[in-house]
Amino acid sequence: MFELSQYPLNYNKNSLEPYISEHTMTFHYEKHLEAYIANLNKLIKDTEFEGKSLESIIIKSSHSKDTASIFNNSAQVFNHNFFFKCLNKNSEKTLPSKLYSNFRSMDDFKSQFRIIANTMFGSGWVWLVAEAQEYKIVKTTNADTPLAHNQTPLLCLDLWEHAYYLDYQNRRAEYIDNFLDHLINWEFVESCI
Ligand code: MN
Repeated sequence: MFELSQYPLNYNKNSLEPYISEHTMTFHYEKHLEAYIANLNKLIKDTEFEGKSLESIIIKSSHSKDTASIFNNSAQVFNHNFFFKCLNKNSEKTLPSKLYSNFRSMDDFKSQFRIIANTMFGSGWVWLVAEAQEYKIVKTTNADTPLAHNQTPLLCLDLWEHAYYLDYQNRRAEYIDNFLDHLINWEFVESCI
């Protein structure tokens, strides 16, 4: 059984204001993440997936269309927990030194991330990942996750409408800019490299 308490927030739900409201954080964490966890528990009960780690469920369920629901819910639990760890309004704002092998500067990183994020069509995620000693920005659609593609996630942005619509409505580009300029927990990113 997975539980929300296994995935605690490291900050108060109002601490990302004004960029992400307490209202959004409450719905996103307590309703959306909780629902993915509850669905996952129901889906894996009495199956070969019960009792396995979240990461192994994601990898194993990614191989077959028959386990698409288990993949979607387990990946969304992972993606959300990872996303919430990537946020922190008061973090240092310097690009980790290793990333300079693939990005010229913080502005170069933001510019590349912004282009990928703004061209996302529909629901999904934008990631900074490590793959074969390269750092790159990729997007995944719906629940898909870098874990299923042999990539190591370092940073992500949730671009499902529920992540921003209460605060930004159709102004998704403003949400993306505020994430890049004010909300990235670079200390967490560095700890993943
Ligand atoms: Mn979400």
